[in-house]
Amino acid sequence: MSRITEIIHSIPVDELTGSISVPVYQTSTFVQESPGVHKGYDYARSNNPTRKVLEDVIAKLEKGNAGFAFATGLAAIDAVIKLLEAGDEIIAVDDIYGGAYRLFTHVYQKFGIKVHYVDTRYPEKIEPLLSSKTKLVWLESPTNPTLKVSDISTISTLAKTVGALVVVDNTFASPVAQLPLELGADIVIHSATKYIGGHSDLVAGLVVTKTKELSEKIKFIQNASGGILGPWDCFLAIRGIETLELRFEQQSKSALEIANFLQHNPFIDKIHYPGLKSHVNHDVAKYQQNNLYGGVLSFSLKEDTIEAAKSFVSSTRYFKLAESLGGVKSLICQPALMTHASIPGDKRRAAGVQDSLIRLSVGVENTDDLIRDLEETFIRIFQTSTITA
Ligand SMILES: *Cc1c(COP(=O)(O)O)cnc(C)c1O
Repeated sequence: MSRITEIIHSIPVDELTGSISVPVYQTSTFVQESPGVHKGYDYARSNNPTRKVLEDVIAKLEKGNAGFAFATGLAAIDAVIKLLEAGDEIIAVDDIYGGAYRLFTHVYQKFGIKVHYVDTRYPEKIEPLLSSKTKLVWLESPTNPTLKVSDISTISTLAKTVGALVVVDNTFASPVAQLPLELGADIVIHSATKYIGGHSDLVAGLVVTKTKELSEKIKFIQNASGGILGPWDCFLAIRGIETLELRFEQQSKSALEIANFLQHNPFIDKIHYPGLKSHVNHDVAKYQQNNLYGGVLSFSLKEDTIEAAKSFVSSTRYFKLAESLGGVKSLICQPALMTHASIPGDKRRAAGVQDSLIRLSVGVENTDDLIRDLEETFIRIFQTSTITA
């Protein structure tokens, strides 16, 4: 059975009615036959049948033991950090998602959890930081917005030498391209707001655990802290999963074509896309991402100014100016002024987020239309065609 057939048919038909789409169980409680005797559901924070379908499907997709749905990607990240206690340490990828950095620094530091940031593209930089205090090695691959790729299997082997768990935020690769648990990771996180929802109409987070022991711990935290995803949003995430593979493949195909097109553009300085042979870790990405590199790419301009990029992102036609990624409609953003605006300029530039960096999230529109949109924008901004220049 092909993966897409498996995905679509792993979403069950409703046993009670035959409904082919998953019913939204909009209820807070469940009637019991006698105290403690019920059909597996007692209170909707603990469990909900719509949520259960989503949780089972994501566990299957990521080839894990169990899945857990949270109100947002950050609520999913928050649940995983709660596995730790005061004195524990995390080693994290240096250009981690800004919201995760904020949570680690401004919430969990004061509870005695220490985070070391390191460029995890180079596993040898992780080794000196590992100790018996290291409880989690936290990766994102590829990262946002410079698409850094880390070798999950090599890093997992390293982490095991001190008994640390490996967490992979798999938002940018999606389970279509990358299965971190098969590469040696212990926990996978998703902002389902992005590719999994896929239509820019949902905010949601997912956790998938490799072992029964970890599943029990996350289940306990999910119920104890209560940051669950509501049934309507579970329904939307399930519906997103039905077309995830189709969308992700098309987005990856278009993004690679766009990256190739932009490579020859005389106004562009750097271009970041793991699918390009010039990418530092293209070989690692090719192996661990099943030759699919996703719909996000970024580039900086030779004219490296806030103003040049600002004019560019403000004048595309199909690429809508907005944060977020992974949806069917293409988006464009300027991290220096938007997603990364709270990071001081020097620090931001050191992390590779130049003033003129522009990030694209390629949707499912016709690829030639998208390329034409970018070409016309270059002509408008620089008053000359990139093809003849
Ligand atoms: C968006 C995002 C998050 C946070 O998810 P929310 O659903 O916005 O809370 C976490 N990690 C990555 C890589 C993201 O892109």
